[in-house]
Amino acid sequence: MGAVADAIHRSAEAAGADVRTDSRVTRVLLRNGRAYGVALEGGDELHAPIVVTAIHPKLTFLQHIDRKDLPDDFVADIERWKSRSGVVKINLALSELPDFLADPGTELQDHHTGSLMMALSNEYMQQAFQEARAGMAAARPFCEGCIPTTLDPTLCPEGFHTMSLFTQWVPHEWSAQPHTEDLEAYADRMIDAYTELAPNFKSSILHRQVIGPYEMEQEYGLIGGNIFHGELSAEQLFHMRPSPIAGLYQASSATHGGGGVCGIPGHHAAREILKDRKRGRLKRLGRTQA
Ligand SMILES: Cc1cc2nc3c(=O)[nH]c(=O)nc-3n(C[C@H](O)[C@H](O)[C@H](O)COP(=O)(O)OP(=O)(O)OC[C@H]3O[C@@H](n4cnc5c(N)ncnc54)[C@H](O)[C@@H]3O)c2cc1C
Repeated sequence: MGAVADAIHRSAEAAGADVRTDSRVTRVLLRNGRAYGVALEGGDELHAPIVVTAIHPKLTFLQHIDRKDLPDDFVADIERWKSRSGVVKINLALSELPDFLADPGTELQDHHTGSLMMALSNEYMQQAFQEARAGMAAARPFCEGCIPTTLDPTLCPEGFHTMSLFTQWVPHEWSAQPHTEDLEAYADRMIDAYTELAPNFKSSILHRQVIGPYEMEQEYGLIGGNIFHGELSAEQLFHMRPSPIAGLYQASSATHGGGGVCGIPGHHAAREILKDRKRGRLKRLGRTQA
């Protein structure tokens, strides 16, 4: 995933873009109902005739814009936007590859390069879900794991590996508070489950990072810890895509085609921007704001 972001970064710079990172936006700047830029943490302002937002819609429309500048029904829709999650991400640094009982060996083999699922049956996954629904972290979590360094060894020093565990579920209410101890115990159970299948697994772990719903919201701006900027439930798909502010376009995972790393929301936003430019709307907008 990092390589995708790096490639987009390089392409943008090759096309003449100036890319800034570590620059948190705090406000979308509006004049006469039109966006003309953003304000950054620290007070700098960037002015532009086109503003594209690709963050959670609750941040864009409830934190970066005054409610009085938006239609009431739109604000109500965004307030009701469901964004719960019971996902916990566990990142591991490994001294060696897992030595699976079913396919022994710590030298790199094909099975190390694929998805290392902990989903022993449908009942296993259902049980993990029902426990979280009842307000407890899963006793035996379900997991999609992978070892990115088997495909890209540049991600860590030679001879070592990183492993990424996308695990489910803990109660979605955990986004309100850190739950550090409970999360560590949950991570222990997850690691024990893999160790049953690969006995060297636990002892190969040099370091671990456990990211629960609270950390996802606080550190990554994923409200409720939801990785897709909102739940992919039927009533939240297809609609609520446009932004009601002229000059402001949405390209986040919460727009049509998202979630997931698919590029479709960005493609749609670019298409609308080009259409508006063709119609001359942005040119007029640029002059108004100059
Ligand atoms: C643990 C995890 C596992 C996932 N697994 C998969 C998978 O296997 N397959 C898949 O297709 N998708 C997966 N996803 C979902 C996928 O990553 C997202 O759908 C996708 O990244 C959304 O892209 P985006 O550009 O809309 O938003 P994001 O990737 O969320 O990017 C938003 C960016 O905006 C930044 N930001 C937030 N607030 C501000 C602010 N105020 N000012 C400036 N910048 C800000 C954030 O730091 C971030 O860089 C996963 C997500 C997570 C978290």
